[in-house]
Amino acid sequence: MPPIIDKDKCKKCGLCAQICGLDVYGPYEKDTVPIVRYPSECWHCNACVLDCPAKAIKLKLPLSMPILYRRLKGEDND
Ligand code: SF4
Ligand code: SF4
Repeated sequence: MPPIIDKDKCKKCGLCAQICGLDVYGPYEKDTVPIVRYPSECWHCNACVLDCPAKAIKLKLPLSMPILYRRLKGEDND
């Protein structure tokens, strides 16, 4: 599911549109609430959610994403 912006919380800073590497928001017009113009481009990286200073963005991850990480044999990160 693409990001949803709470218009009442949004500070219109444009940071989400600026940081999205996939251009989901498209061109940003100064002092406006960003528009999710290309929702199907979102790959749910969560960057806009984490960086939004107003905590105004919600993102629901697709069911296929929260798959538990399983360590492979021979992999040692500890
Ligand atoms: S980063 Fe948050 S506050 Fe800034 S424009 Fe995007 S939704 Fe609004
Ligand atoms: S979750 Fe990632 S890909 Fe999706 S709109 Fe936010 S920054 Fe862009």
